[in-house]
Amino acid sequence: MNIKERLNRILTTLPEGVKLVAVSKFHPVESLQEAYDAGQRIFGESRPQEMTAKYEVLPKDIEWHMIGHLQTNKVKYIAPFVSMIASVDSARLIEEIERQAAKNNRVIDILLEVHVADEETKSGWSKTELYDYLDSGILERMSHLRVRGVMTIATNTDNEQIIRRDFQTIQTIFNELKPRFGDYFDTLSIGMSDDYPIALEYGSTMVRIGTAIFGSRNFL
Ligand SMILES: *Cc1c(COP(=O)(O)O)cnc(C)c1O
Repeated sequence: MNIKERLNRILTTLPEGVKLVAVSKFHPVESLQEAYDAGQRIFGESRPQEMTAKYEVLPKDIEWHMIGHLQTNKVKYIAPFVSMIASVDSARLIEEIERQAAKNNRVIDILLEVHVADEETKSGWSKTELYDYLDSGILERMSHLRVRGVMTIATNTDNEQIIRRDFQTIQTIFNELKPRFGDYFDTLSIGMSDDYPIALEYGSTMVRIGTAIFGSRNFL
């Protein structure tokens, strides 16, 4: 199957209203162009330089989503064009996004990344840290970013019960946080190539799929 066929096959399995982020990190622009020609408009990247390089050569109606851990000193490179930063994991990063978005006269959509998996290596707020931060009221003073929802990466395991536990946890957090924000808080970003069918059962509104569309990545 080629990229277009794989993309279309995935799209037929997604309920209406669920957005597909095509995770194109490490893949060449030719592959992204192929997905674009098949109709895909949202692409996810994990490194600012790579995203910027691709943004410069690809069509301008693409929505770029930053999904990887973002260092504060790199926000300025993507702030002029990024649609969503889905991996917001600290107060410092929020402050820098607010500052850079203001500089560019933009409002940037963000997702709060929550750590629910077993692995210590994964990034994201713990539930307690996040709720404490939200209670501080700091976020309400930021007018150049809009919190659209939450994101998480489930534990990397073959044990489906653990994956379900993780998705259940984030779904509960999403539902708890909803009343704090407006109608625009509508995004529960869960599900990757291997676990997105399960994520859909837990109310995912945005899946992030790479390998199942573009094939395996050659890590450098
Ligand atoms: C790489 C990545 C994905 C895509 O993973 P696949 O298994 O290739 O679908 C999704 N989300 C995040 C945060 C990633 O870093």
